[in-house]
Amino acid sequence: MSDTRETDLLGHVPDGLYIGGQWRPATGGRTFAVTDPSTGETVKEIADASVEDGVAALDAASEAFPSWSTTPARHRAEILRRAFDLLTERKDDFALLMTIEMGKPLKESAGEVTYGGEFLRWFSEEAAHVQGRYGANPEGTGRMIVTQHPVGPCYLITPWNFPLAMATRKIAPALAAGCTVVVKPASQTPLTTSLFVQLLEDAGVPAGVVNVINTSTSGPVSEAIISDPRLRKLSFTGSTSVGEKLLEQAAVGVLRTSMELGGNAPFIVFEDADLDKAVEGALAAKFRNIGEACTAANRFIVHSSIAEEFARRITDRVRDFRTGRGTDEGVTIGPLIDERAVEKVSELVRDAVANGATLRIGGEVLERPGTFFAATVLSDVRPGSQILREEIFGPVVAIVSFTEEDDAVRLANDTEFGLISYVYTQNLARGMRMIERLETGMLGLNVGVVSNPAAPFGGWKLSGLGREGGAEGIHEYLQTKYTLTPDPFA
Ligand code: NAP
Repeated sequence: MSDTRETDLLGHVPDGLYIGGQWRPATGGRTFAVTDPSTGETVKEIADASVEDGVAALDAASEAFPSWSTTPARHRAEILRRAFDLLTERKDDFALLMTIEMGKPLKESAGEVTYGGEFLRWFSEEAAHVQGRYGANPEGTGRMIVTQHPVGPCYLITPWNFPLAMATRKIAPALAAGCTVVVKPASQTPLTTSLFVQLLEDAGVPAGVVNVINTSTSGPVSEAIISDPRLRKLSFTGSTSVGEKLLEQAAVGVLRTSMELGGNAPFIVFEDADLDKAVEGALAAKFRNIGEACTAANRFIVHSSIAEEFARRITDRVRDFRTGRGTDEGVTIGPLIDERAVEKVSELVRDAVANGATLRIGGEVLERPGTFFAATVLSDVRPGSQILREEIFGPVVAIVSFTEEDDAVRLANDTEFGLISYVYTQNLARGMRMIERLETGMLGLNVGVVSNPAAPFGGWKLSGLGREGGAEGIHEYLQTKYTLTPDPFA
């Protein structure tokens, strides 16, 4: 750890579990280490929740539910708005902490604080706008009343790649709707959530409304919470394989679920694209967050007439990238999250090259402390290569080419995932055809980044269920009640 500002900040991050408004150690005093992926060093030891701690967190969320769910929406909204203001004030601390535990460049961490904060503002505005319906039934014999109610205590599981935004994207709509929550951050990046919950406390969130359990044994701890009949909702962001397991567990209690799972985004560049803009969009869609984003472009599907030029331009830009610790000036590519991630990316690149792809730049693990993989460009990637089937989750561009529009669509849809697609074309009709033909929950049409708290984020096929953000986001935490009453004039 390099400087006193980091030491001070880490000293301020609570190291306990947050249950019923109290910071407390885990049962038996167990702890686990959080490391800096750019050095491999431990930065802090934090409490390691047991099954018993998980159940205690659900006890607290269940006890707080009656009071929070009947708190006026305006009051809940004002607390969320205060949280937004505090986060804006403390932006630098959150950005630095995320860079320390996750590795992304500081500028990108600051971008995540802005993005993550916007969920607090958006849902503070949505909280007071939940509405019902009233009207005569078609027969005219009665009145139909439709009302919305918070679903109950929720369990929120977040991943390590966006430690703040994935938490605010779940916590803000849940609280806006009147739900109480137990949050389980990823074991690699729990510190940001702890600092954020301290902020929620400062913003006035009452005891028990938000509870946090860090744990190194997410399987058994989660299973105990999910199988508890008091839980009414599970929201998960992470890999499809874990999501499928959790869906099975959630089926027993017929829980409401939101699942934000893996992606395998196609990035199509047609021959009529503005190539300058396509290259800028490609760099943003691929290298933001070190390529460790579910929205990261995974397969570049480029028209054969421009594929060589596109690959050359991307390679030239990648040559100027600077890899290093995210806190260092000018760094554009930080470390991957851990050894396992480095092994996976190495294997995908090795397999692509063995199948005949051209390695234009990068392709190797960097010889230095931490878990760094060089930014890489592969062109002429052959069909059947693993890299076209799997989510890369690293700084690797894989380019294939096509000649006919139908082939581009077929290649793009040839995946079990359907989170996001990107298309670059200046032909309006073609762009409209892509909206209709691509099997995707989200589409970037001539843009490389689409995420926005005001938009419904989510996927088709194995990429998930439900939507986060937008007008849809709060409804994931509400349930509908229909009441019929006789015609009052009869
Ligand atoms: P992961 O291994 O599925 O982990 C995600 C979360 O699930 C972590 O909190 C993890 O905790 C927890 N977890 C793991 N096994 C569990 C189990 N058996 N029971 C309960 N919880 C369990 O995924 P990841 O590698 O951290 O994240 C990368 C994946 O997330 C990628 O596939 C990416 O596409 C996806 N993602 C999707 C979106 C989206 O919105 N669609 C956004 C971001 C990321 P531990 O750390 O303790 O294992």
